Amino acid sequence: MVENDETSGGASTRPPGEPWRPLTDTGRGYLSVYFSEQMARWPVREITRRGDNKSDPNIETGTYGLFSTCEPSMRNRIVQDGAATIFFITTHKPGNGRVLSGYYHVGHFTEGTQGAVNRDFALAADLMRFIEPIPVGSLPEPLAAFCSVPFRQIRPTDVDATRALRAICDSAEDRTEEYLSEVSRVERFAYSQTELSYPSWGRDGGFTWADAPEYYQTDDDLSKVPNSSKNKKWRCRECGFVIKSGALLKKCPLCKKAATLVPDTEVAA
Ligand SMILES: [Zn+2]
Repeated sequence: MVENDETSGGASTRPPGEPWRPLTDTGRGYLSVYFSEQMARWPVREITRRGDNKSDPNIETGTYGLFSTCEPSMRNRIVQDGAATIFFITTHKPGNGRVLSGYYHVGHFTEGTQGAVNRDFALAADLMRFIEPIPVGSLPEPLAAFCSVPFRQIRPTDVDATRALRAICDSAEDRTEEYLSEVSRVERFAYSQTELSYPSWGRDGGFTWADAPEYYQTDDDLSKVPNSSKNKKWRCRECGFVIKSGALLKKCPLCKKAATLVPDTEVAA
């Protein structure tokens, strides 16, 4: 299990020094939908999602978008607008609808491997809290109606909604430690099945802050890279291999170099 040095029960608020920059909070936020692990007791991200193993929300480090390419437009908006609070929404038990599982308060950001040119910003929480999931329909109004409106991935929250949702999470018991244990348990389960915790990444272990430097933007010659590939095939500009993945990966699963993958169709064209 990952050690959290700075706080008990929460965000890895290990202060991000360079290259992280502080984010000014304007009081706004986002609802953010993520895929969760159906077999898990707590709705942690879907680590075992086939061909698209999820690394975000990465509660072990309290980051979002550091390791994965998920939700670039939300991450960009958070940085541009200081919309610092991300409320996490997921469908955990099919048929039960969406639930609110917790939030990040983002304190810092930096450019990810794909760089600002691709609107790729990594976010780091200075505070986070995960709770017994609350069905969005049972939130007090007007939050229930607001959160129940069908939307795909993200929905901005204004200052009032942000404050109210945060108060609800803060008044619920902090279950973050249980979520962290669950991440670790699912990773061990995946490893026992495939000898890799993240087979679509070619990755045998979990994520810690020690992995972060490999995911910072270091290449000044970055070009724009599409975030999706129609045939789910990506070619590595470094080693030349073609890999299959539902989402753009920040590192090549074979040679492990960062920001080298491009959609295979684009290369062929
Ligand atoms: Zn490669």
